[in-house]
Amino acid sequence: MKLPGIGQKNATRMAFFVLGMGDQEVNDFAANLLTAKRELRYCKICGNLTDHEDEICEICADDTRDKTQILVVEEPKDVTALEKVREYHGLYHVLHGTISPMEGRTLDDVNIKSLMPRLSDESVQEVILATNATQEGEMTAMYLARLIKPAGIRVTRLARGLAVGADIEYADEVTLSKAVENRQEI
Ligand SMILES: [Zn+2]
Repeated sequence: MKLPGIGQKNATRMAFFVLGMGDQEVNDFAANLLTAKRELRYCKICGNLTDHEDEICEICADDTRDKTQILVVEEPKDVTALEKVREYHGLYHVLHGTISPMEGRTLDDVNIKSLMPRLSDESVQEVILATNATQEGEMTAMYLARLIKPAGIRVTRLARGLAVGADIEYADEVTLSKAVENRQEI
């Protein structure tokens, strides 16, 4: 139940599922959890996942990426989804969440402190807000736009091909590719 989105019912189902697994399987599962925790960390620049040995992720370290664009997402898994589409060749910034006044989550609760210094780099010309098309995602995008625009940087939002309420993670590749291509000024 400590995991996000898991209520008592699901937690009970999972607990019984684990009880039904073989000893070796449970061992591997537990070992994988530990390995993930030990061997992965967040990129110092963008907040994406990276190997524990590297301070900077593969994308930030890649000189061939377009340094004029930063695409802002909620979670590392959104980076993975967008990378599969191959439509986008710029950099990323991972917020690790959304703001939600209802739940008392403010700008201080998302990874934004490291975004602002990146914007003072002269090469950045556009920030693409790719938070989910949910109420919280939209609100986060609006707040960020208000914060970033005074810096004189173009701020765009993914196009409306994405269904309202949809998570970036689950969008099909054609929809995502179109959404990036037809992004709109906000
Ligand atoms: Zn990075």
